[in-house]
Amino acid sequence: MVYELPKLPYEYDALEPYIDSKTMEIHHDKHHAGYVKKLNAALEKHQELQDKPVEELIKNVNSVSDEVKSAVRNNGGGHLNHSFFWPLLKKDVKPEGEVVNAIKKNFGGLEQFKEQFKNAALGQFGSGWAWLVADPASKKLEIVSTPNQENPLTNGKIPILCVDVWEHAYYLKYQNKRDEYLDNFFKVINWQQVNENFSKVQ
Ligand code: MN
Repeated sequence: MVYELPKLPYEYDALEPYIDSKTMEIHHDKHHAGYVKKLNAALEKHQELQDKPVEELIKNVNSVSDEVKSAVRNNGGGHLNHSFFWPLLKKDVKPEGEVVNAIKKNFGGLEQFKEQFKNAALGQFGSGWAWLVADPASKKLEIVSTPNQENPLTNGKIPILCVDVWEHAYYLKYQNKRDEYLDNFFKVINWQQVNENFSKVQ
């Protein structure tokens, strides 16, 4: 199996004005495409790894041979994280459903959750991601952040929602204002997709 860039599930301008068209185009067509290309190049001589779904690669990245470990962590992670991120974005979706009930229960309310999630995203120094994850044993929801293209799957958690806080995700429109990007990110969360991700945890 050779890894492929998934099609963006909407037009580049679908998230305007919160996330601009040019950023979406470069982010998907250049950055995400770059991770896929480099992952395929790194695994050219590792047929046994090419056959695995990218989730499996990343879940077990610590046991991948040293020769390709960082290429898998960075580019496999980049491919997985972006593939997971795109469907999480959509305008005008109401925050409702099972996952919102669970969020309210876990964090004391939707606003409290947003504040904690935003703080995790702001507190991630340099490039990385903030995540809402579930612990597979307790089913409890947690907020974590990861550096670079690391994914919580490697630490045994199940991702439910995430936000990309690499500068390439927001710099064209927001420059240094990660804070403002995050406020607008909350306006384009596809809660239907978040519910779908959450339903797999049960
Ligand atoms: Mn990105």
